[in-house]
Amino acid sequence: MNRNKREKEYYSIDVGDSTFTVLKRYQNLRPIGSGAQGIVCSAYDHVLERNVAIKKLSRPFQNQTHAKRAYRELVLMKCVNHKNIIGLLNVFTPQKTLEEFQDVYIVMELMDANLCQVIQMELDHERLSYLLYQMLCGIKHLHAAGIIHRDLKPSNIVVKSDCTLKILDFGLARTAATGLLMTPYVVTRYYRAPEVILGMGYQANVDVWSIGCIMAEMVRGSVLFPGTDHIDQWNKVIEQLGTPSQEFMMKLNQSVRTYVENRPRYAGYSFEKLFPDVLFPADSEHNKLKAQHVHTHSLVRLSLSPPADWTALLYL
Ligand code: AMP
Repeated sequence: MNRNKREKEYYSIDVGDSTFTVLKRYQNLRPIGSGAQGIVCSAYDHVLERNVAIKKLSRPFQNQTHAKRAYRELVLMKCVNHKNIIGLLNVFTPQKTLEEFQDVYIVMELMDANLCQVIQMELDHERLSYLLYQMLCGIKHLHAAGIIHRDLKPSNIVVKSDCTLKILDFGLARTAATGLLMTPYVVTRYYRAPEVILGMGYQANVDVWSIGCIMAEMVRGSVLFPGTDHIDQWNKVIEQLGTPSQEFMMKLNQSVRTYVENRPRYAGYSFEKLFPDVLFPADSEHNKLKAQHVHTHSLVRLSLSPPADWTALLYL
């Protein structure tokens, strides 16, 4: 396609600190979030006649980690088709040649808020269970496709006002994980399983750990293992759950094992102490709770309303 024709297809607009150069079909861009890879905007798609989310991956090929993450995300988002995993609608770059190629724009279904914004709401039993159920369905689907996420966290999970939920990304590429004694980089680690924190072999159940931590936070209203850095993350786990068994220690590599074995010993707390009954929401009474939340950008009021008969889904 010649340069003139292409230039007519795209326009540029400043969004926060960034400039989005997008196809003209996408109008009305507004920033709705930002993550490790860049800024996310909502927009109206005049072709599909629906609202969409557009994520700009700025220079995704600047280093190997970024490149692998971007590639992994794109390929998986294109292949995976499940109602609890975010769907890919389009992908484009405004640059014209391989030499100029810099930015990738990913167009996705638009959701209303991420789970960080919902966690503070006092959700009743029904909403909580419906959210949990959908997280498990999404992750089960990824596991069935051989994908282990390893980095599920509330900011990577998005919801709509009808209480539907989708997982936003596909987690850590193999190269992106760092072990306990490796140089830390700034990320949220609260939800990472011990196997991931300690750089051990891992299985699909590391994602169940993360979902458990997210569920715990929804029940307690605060982070379960709020480590201040990657070392403290491990301390928070053992303080509450107790020092792991010798059998567990044997699976660690020598340097990590020496560190872990030399930590003070903790007995851990009982389940009743960690999760007293009073924290659990009462059984739902429809519309009892009009959970409201002030969205940081657009003052959206979220009134999460699951379908009346969603529990029937459990028996499908
Ligand atoms: P990410 O860069 O994928 O980690 O996304 C950063 C933030 O942007 C998320 O925590 C969400 O708040 C928001 N976001 C990303 N994608 C979407 C989407 N499809 N719908 C609504 N919000 C989104």
